[in-house]
Amino acid sequence: MNRIGPKLVLASHNKGKLAEIDALLAPYGIETVPASAFGLAEPAETEDSFAGNALLKARFACAGSGLPALSDDSGLEVEALGGAPGVYTADWAETPKGRDWMLAMTKVHDRLQDADSRRAAFVCTLALVWPDGRELLFEGRCEGLLAWPPRGTNGFGYDPMFVATGQKATFGEMEPAAKHAISHRAAAFARLKAALLQ
Ligand code: IMP
Repeated sequence: MNRIGPKLVLASHNKGKLAEIDALLAPYGIETVPASAFGLAEPAETEDSFAGNALLKARFACAGSGLPALSDDSGLEVEALGGAPGVYTADWAETPKGRDWMLAMTKVHDRLQDADSRRAAFVCTLALVWPDGRELLFEGRCEGLLAWPPRGTNGFGYDPMFVATGQKATFGEMEPAAKHAISHRAAAFARLKAALLQ
């Protein structure tokens, strides 16, 4: 069963995400095309949930290309911060000179101070939107604890301060394949595969 493809627009401008998603879909004969190939800009993420923002991006790419579109919205939820930074995960890194992930991680650490809980989760929501109006959402979570100081230079974003449950190394210290096997994005893809690609 393969109910998507053969061509799918990826509603992302993040090179890391594009490569990761392309590699996940290639074995199923699904050809991916980035939204940028259609001259589509990235819409502003104005919703207050991962699902809302994922749908907004996929609907925009689907409407602009006429093809089924897949988007990914993700972020870090910190228990002691009431789920922040959540949908604002990338915003916490913004500076006039671009994104600064050490600054973003320091903000999380400073706000935690001596909070009892260091629990956090990376969350990923995938949205699939078809030109005929069908829409599907798939969510994946990866639970863990926040470490300080940050460790490791692999990965991106908040990886150096996140230790997934059952691991000793941070995502920033893990080999990419090991991270991808247990990540929130892998969990969301597993659900997508179970629904559409088995
Ligand atoms: P968006 O989904 O493009 O809006 O961005 C979500 C942000 O969440 C990214 O810019 C990263 O900072 C963070 N994030 C999402 N997934 C990961 C991950 O696997 N590791 C580290 N940070 C992540």
